Amino acid sequence: MADPKGFLKNTHRETPQRRPVDLRLKDWKEVYEDFSHDTLKVQASRCMDCGIPFCHNGCPLGNLIPEWNDLVRTDRWREAIERLHATNNFPEFTGRLCPAPCEGSCVLGINQDPVTIKQVEVEIIDNAFNEGWVVPLPPTKLTGKSVAVIGSGPAGLAAAQQLTRAGHKVTVFERDDRIGGLLRYGIPEFKMEKRHIDRRLAQMEAEGTEFRAGVNVGVDITAAQLRSEFNAVVLAGGATARRDLPIPGRDLDGIHQAMEFLPWANRVQLGDPVLGEDGEPPITAKGKKVIIIGGGDTGADCLGTSHRQGAVSVHQFEIMPRPPETRADSTPWPTYPMMYRVTSAHEEGGERVYSVNTEQFVGENGRVTGLRGHEVVMNAGKFEKVEGSDFEMEADLVLLAMGFTGPEREGLLTDLGVEFNERGNVTRDAAFATSVPGVYVAGDMGRGQSLIVWAIAEGRAAAAAVDTYLMGQSALPVPISPTAAPQR
Ligand SMILES: Cc1cc2nc3c(=O)[nH]c(=O)nc-3n(C[C@H](O)[C@H](O)[C@H](O)COP(=O)(O)OP(=O)(O)OC[C@H]3O[C@@H](n4cnc5c(N)ncnc54)[C@H](O)[C@@H]3O)c2cc1C
Ligand code: SF4
Repeated sequence: MADPKGFLKNTHRETPQRRPVDLRLKDWKEVYEDFSHDTLKVQASRCMDCGIPFCHNGCPLGNLIPEWNDLVRTDRWREAIERLHATNNFPEFTGRLCPAPCEGSCVLGINQDPVTIKQVEVEIIDNAFNEGWVVPLPPTKLTGKSVAVIGSGPAGLAAAQQLTRAGHKVTVFERDDRIGGLLRYGIPEFKMEKRHIDRRLAQMEAEGTEFRAGVNVGVDITAAQLRSEFNAVVLAGGATARRDLPIPGRDLDGIHQAMEFLPWANRVQLGDPVLGEDGEPPITAKGKKVIIIGGGDTGADCLGTSHRQGAVSVHQFEIMPRPPETRADSTPWPTYPMMYRVTSAHEEGGERVYSVNTEQFVGENGRVTGLRGHEVVMNAGKFEKVEGSDFEMEADLVLLAMGFTGPEREGLLTDLGVEFNERGNVTRDAAFATSVPGVYVAGDMGRGQSLIVWAIAEGRAAAAAVDTYLMGQSALPVPISPTAAPQR
């Protein structure tokens, strides 16, 4: 039972401070200062334990938010992590990286600032790791069945942990040299230090999950081998096909996809020998005028990375108009609010340019030196050029952060013979089964480019479906069905 007057006494929403910009740009560590448990308890006490907790609905995992808010308020941290782990395998990822749709649907948010749900979540799990409460939970009985999970992002990891705990022999295949998917090589260190992945992987290994990095399934292991060696397969290979910008000049040197640029910075932080004679990684923003095309989160990750590498200037282009300062009318409560946001990377500098379209890249001696663009307005759902708004801007590094079009089809997916939907993603039914018996799909590969929280939710749901397929029944929880889930 929540403090019935908590939200009346504590009207002020408080979140951790970010470290000073000039300090944090000198390192790659996470940007937030510590947050005291006493302050957190006050924040948790703002939760009203609503009769209909809309936060539950907002969270794809169905996190038991009012329960753990009250457990934190009353200092029952051990029970809090048990309730949090009941619905979320990896709160240390979502607590740091989720855009928190739960907060967008918090009832308190109707006329006050919403409860700091995400902060409560991350403090519960960090405290649990510090206290030594996150221990391996190996199965008590083995089933003798084997499952291959393809891809080690949040969807694959969640499916693997659930299936291992259900007693199956689970092998996770990853074509990169390290486990983690976009958590490892997409998301920069300053948003989530990679030690958080490693300590979770240690738990999973101790539970019995086998990890095989550096194995490209469909190339190093054929689809036929996979089917004959495993009783079931979970496809969790992500939506890795990148959206490009095929305009004149695209083939000039110095124009890269975000996911060609970001992994190098993570590799440097991981201690890989990738630095050249100039002491820089193969693609770097150091000393460069950078233009990022794409105003979303991936673009913001390129922005923060460019500043830490020592860019001279950074512009981030977005074709859409600048969002409103507060919740847009098109996204009323309890939907996820579309509004102008200032991420930590935006606070660190650079200029955001809205309503612009890039027409052409220009260069000299085969290298990009700038681009030509113009302003646009939206008219009847179409972008129209604003006449007379043409401009040219200098750039010696252009980063394309325009999203992903879906999974890569060639190789594994075509060899397995799975069907694709009209959006280009792997088709799945309400139980996450593909068109091929015994083959399931979870995360961005079936959903399209999305969020970590959805990947974990789908990994858990697919695990329950695979367990049922193998055993005829399952005690694993089913957080969602893709037919019920909105696409975002
Ligand atoms: C730069 C960037 C930043 C982001 N930041 C956030 C954020 O802050 N918050 C958030 O919620 N979401 C964020 N996202 C989105 C989020 O990372 C994804 O939605 C999520 O990681 C999808 O999880 P997944 O497990 O489906 O796939 P992924 O994380 O993409 O993992 C798929 C893995 O499968 C591997 N794979 C593919 N095919 C094969 C094969 N044939 N054999 C072996 N391995 C294979 C790939 O190498 C990859 O490692 C970000 C995305 C990007 C690109
Ligand atoms: S909607 Fe907000 S106030 Fe209500 S239970 Fe959820 S977190 Fe608490």
